[in-house]
Amino acid sequence: MTIRPAPTRPALALVAHDKKKDDLVAFAVSHQAKLSEFDLFATGTTGSRILAAAPDLPVARLKSGPLGGDQQIGALIAEGRVKGLIFFVDPLTPMPHDVDVKALMRLGALYDIPMALNRATAELLIAHPDAFLQTT
Ligand code: PGA
Repeated sequence: MTIRPAPTRPALALVAHDKKKDDLVAFAVSHQAKLSEFDLFATGTTGSRILAAAPDLPVARLKSGPLGGDQQIGALIAEGRVKGLIFFVDPLTPMPHDVDVKALMRLGALYDIPMALNRATAELLIAHPDAFLQTT
């Protein structure tokens, strides 16, 4: 008998800087049905906030961003597991983990995954969730 790993669904990553977390939670709640078609990864605090508002969403929490969570998402992109990134960035606040955020965006660009860095773009992407499935 051959043992095969359980099939996985395509995955998206959800991240928000502190001042954008309310926005991302509102986005996740209002698009719960579409988001639940995907496996979801989130940085620690973002994931807790989303799960508190939408406990049925299949969110796997990684480390908090400043403690390596952004790098974990970058690795999942490099491995081909994460097919899309929704990251509500705060452009007005200096971050100690700015280099990690930059590295994450670099990998998103390198692997050519759909990547929304604000709500306007996230709304466009989630209106066409098939866009997340067209990357290799
Ligand atoms: P957090 O990390 O969800 O743990 O706050 C996000 C970030 O600041 O990169």
